Amino acid sequence: MQEISSADQNLLPVAEAQQIMLGMIEPLSAETVSILAARGQALAEDVASDCDLPPFDNSAMDGYAVRSADVQTATPATPVRLQVVEQLPAGRAPARTLATGEAARIMTGAPVPAGADAVVVVEDTDGGDRQVAIRQAAAAGSNVRHRGGSVRQGAVVLPRGTLIRPAEQGMLAALGRTTVRVVRRPRVALLSTGDELVEPEQIPGPGQIRDSNRFGLYGQVEAMGAVPIDIGLVPDDAALLRTALERAFSEADCVITSGGVSVGDYDLTKRILRELGEIQFLRVAMKPGKPQAVGLVRGKPVFGVPGNPVSSMVVFDQFVQPALRKMAGQERLRRMQVQAIADQPIRKKPGKIHFLRVILETRDGELHARLTGPQGSGILSSMTAANGLAIVDRDVSEVQAGERITVELWD
Ligand code: AMP
Ligand code: MG
Repeated sequence: MQEISSADQNLLPVAEAQQIMLGMIEPLSAETVSILAARGQALAEDVASDCDLPPFDNSAMDGYAVRSADVQTATPATPVRLQVVEQLPAGRAPARTLATGEAARIMTGAPVPAGADAVVVVEDTDGGDRQVAIRQAAAAGSNVRHRGGSVRQGAVVLPRGTLIRPAEQGMLAALGRTTVRVVRRPRVALLSTGDELVEPEQIPGPGQIRDSNRFGLYGQVEAMGAVPIDIGLVPDDAALLRTALERAFSEADCVITSGGVSVGDYDLTKRILRELGEIQFLRVAMKPGKPQAVGLVRGKPVFGVPGNPVSSMVVFDQFVQPALRKMAGQERLRRMQVQAIADQPIRKKPGKIHFLRVILETRDGELHARLTGPQGSGILSSMTAANGLAIVDRDVSEVQAGERITVELWD
């Protein structure tokens, strides 16, 4: 194994940097919103059921409600004939109790009448109207969805901290809720710094490039359920940067700056942030994304992500996103990780965790990962081609093709 260079020995481990950032974060206050607006927010209350679900025994299939004892001997060769005494579409309450020798035509979701304890699917009958020939025995309970089988009245179905996804929106409606208490969405101000940057609609002049970080960060903020606030593009000018940051901290719960946090002569973000609050400048044992700034200004967290486009996105993904999830009251702070087979060898210097952009695909029932191409921190196309981020540990210097690696899923 290769030695870790002495410069790299002083770098802060990724896990410690994550702890520093999470340590500054408190969840935001709660608000009441429509269940239609709540997707991506975390519950700020325990949601209990006001009823049993389903609320009554009902049929899981279209067929005939029967007394199972009546049809014990039914086979295709020796069908059992029953009197059809009632038609039960979904939504109709049964008018009578089923007696021996009787059946009710029943549709999916209709209440199973008293006396009946099973439903025979229509395919196992002759489909008769007044009389029906049952050609298959049915065990007690078959094709019946029992009252309370999904949810018991009074049970906490969705505990505080649950992230609201479409399934939770549906469940809230089933529980009779139209509004719900959730943690407020973090409002996140974004600004890019750099004299070399121009807006996307501009044709870059000599030495200029288009600002891409602000737009990538905007999407990353929105994708995790927070609200981006675009503060704009700020040149490397102390007064302008101070004004922009003042605005950012007054409008948002959290601020993300891009650029100007490494050791360059014009790394102004560092200087101005230091004037405004308690900021730490970190050199994290990771690639990309080593230089970062993090701290509190007027009690609000600020994250200074490095300017290289891949670094900006990876630092957001690994540090800012978990912090925002905590601020948003979510329980799960990390993305889902899977193990995938490396389709190619990966060589790296030990000393830093490498975050590599990969394409994951399933082949022969196994998950495989291959690199998206050159992995430089300025190569944004390595991100657009990827659907996951491989995490190769600090002390590893080589991964053989065929070995398993850890990948965080983006989709
Ligand atoms: P910095 O972190 O400011 O030293 O910038 C590092 C590198 O990232 C430089 O090559 C910058 O031109 C580039 N860069 C900085 N900010 C942005 C941005 N918002 N969009 C695209 N590239 C950027
Ligand atoms: Mg810069």
